[in-house]
Amino acid sequence: MTQTPISFDSLPLAPAALANLQQLGYLQMTPIQAESLPLALAGHDIIAQAKTGSGKTAAFALPLLHKLRVDAITVQALVLCPTRELADQVTLELRRLARYEANTRILTLVGGIPLRPQLASLEHGAHIVVGTPGRVIDHLERGSLSLDAVATLVLDEADRMLDMGFADEIAAIAKKLPKDRQTLLFSATYPEGIAKISQQLMREPRRVTVQAQHDAGKIRQRFYEVKEAERLHAVSLLLDHFRPASTLAFCNTRQQCRDLVDVLRGQGYSALALHGDLEQRDRDQVLIQFANRSCSVLVATDVAARGLDIAQLEAVINVDTTPDPEVHIHRIGRTGRVDAEGWALSLASLDEMGSIGKIEQLQGVESDWHKLAELTPAAGGKLAAPMITLQIAGGRKEKIRPGDVLGALTGEAGFAAGQIGKIVVNEFSTYVAVDRQIGREALARLSAGKVKGKRVKVRFLEDEAG
Ligand code: ADP
Ligand code: MG
Repeated sequence: MTQTPISFDSLPLAPAALANLQQLGYLQMTPIQAESLPLALAGHDIIAQAKTGSGKTAAFALPLLHKLRVDAITVQALVLCPTRELADQVTLELRRLARYEANTRILTLVGGIPLRPQLASLEHGAHIVVGTPGRVIDHLERGSLSLDAVATLVLDEADRMLDMGFADEIAAIAKKLPKDRQTLLFSATYPEGIAKISQQLMREPRRVTVQAQHDAGKIRQRFYEVKEAERLHAVSLLLDHFRPASTLAFCNTRQQCRDLVDVLRGQGYSALALHGDLEQRDRDQVLIQFANRSCSVLVATDVAARGLDIAQLEAVINVDTTPDPEVHIHRIGRTGRVDAEGWALSLASLDEMGSIGKIEQLQGVESDWHKLAELTPAAGGKLAAPMITLQIAGGRKEKIRPGDVLGALTGEAGFAAGQIGKIVVNEFSTYVAVDRQIGREALARLSAGKVKGKRVKVRFLEDEAG
C-alpha cells in the first residue's frame, strides 16, 4: 500500500476535473488510484487488481473522461460490466465524475430491459457506453451501435465476467474496436483467464496490484471453532452477542444461504439471501431492504456479493471458511471501512483448519480464537431491523417522486419525517422504509389515502422475500 496520501493535484487533469473531485470530497487518491492513474493518463494499457471498494471506478473513469472530446458525438469509450446492477453503479459514478463537463452523454446498455428506449437514445448519440456484453452484442448485430471511434475499452470486474462465461463475447466486441485504443482491465482477483484475455486484447499492459491487506486496526477479527451441527445456530449466537446493526454473512453455497436464512428468520431476525439464483427484480428488492435497514442480515455467496458497493457494515460473518485465502481477505474488507470499526467473525470446523492455515499465512498473523461459550446475548431482546419496507405499486412510469411519498406520509397521514427512511423509486414500483413500530399504521393510512392524487396499492415487501 502507498503509505503517504497523494492528492489528485499531482495528476495532469483539467482544473475543472480537479475542482469537481474536490467537491465530491475526493481529497486523496486511494492506493489503486495512486498506482494506476499516472500510467493510465500516460496512455498505457493496464491490468489493475484491487479489492472491492478500493475506488477502481475512478481509476478508469478519470483517464477516459480526460481523453473525451465532447464536441464529437461518437462513442469514444466502452465500459463492459458483468451485470445490470454493476453497470448502473458505474454509470452513476461516471456521471458524478463527469459533472464538470455538462454535455457529456453517458448511455447504459444492459439486458433485461426493453431494447426500444435504448435504440432511441443511441440515435441521439453518446460519448460513453456502459454495458453488459450480451446487450452490447445485440446492438452491434442490429447495427444500432458503432464502436469505430472508441479510444478506451474498459473491462470492469473482469474476473466476474469470466466467471459468467463472457470471454467469447468480450473477444467478439473487441474485434469491432479500433486496434489503436487503450484497454484498461479491472479485477478483484487474478484468475488464469485474465492473463489469456489480456494477451488477446491488450498491448504491453502494465500490471498494478494493491496488496489485499487491510488496515488491521479497523477490522477486529475473531475465530470460533464449531461442530458442523452447530454452525448455523452459532450465527445467531454471534448476532445476539455483538448486535451489529448490519451484517453480511458469507456462505460457500446457495443451499447454505437458504438454510441459514430459514434458521435466522425462524428465530425472528430480519435476514435475506442474495445468491445467483435470484431474478434481477428480487435481487434489487433484497438490496433495497438491506440498504434502507429493513433487513439486518444479508446472507450471500461470494459471487453474488462481488462488486457491490455496500456501505456501513458493522460485521462480516464467515459462516463457512473459504478455501481461497484471498477471498477471505475480500470478504472481511467489507467491514471496517472509512472511519468506522468493524467485526470480522469466522466460524471454522476441524475440517477447515487447513484453509484457516492458508488464511493465517496470507494475513501474516495468527488467528485470535474464541469459544462459543463466551457468547452471551446482550440485553434488549432479539435484534430486529429498525425499519420495514412498504412497496407501492407505481413508480417512474407513473411519475411518482420520492417527495410525493414523503408528502403523503407526513401530510395527510400525519407521520413525522423522522419516522420515514429511504425512498427508492424504480420504473414500476416505489419502496419506502418506515420505522418498524409504525409499519402497520403506515400501510393502512397510505392505502386509504392518495399519492400524487391517486389511490395506490401498498404492501409489506418482506412477507414474500427470503
Ligand atoms: P471498486 O470498484 O474498487 O469496488 P468503487 O469505485 O465502487 O470501488 O468505489 C468505492 C467507493 O469509494 C465509492 O462510493 C466511491 O465514490 C468512493 N471513492 C472512490 N475513490 C475515492 C477517493 N479518492 N476518495 C473518496 N472516496 C472515493
Ligand atoms: Mg467496481
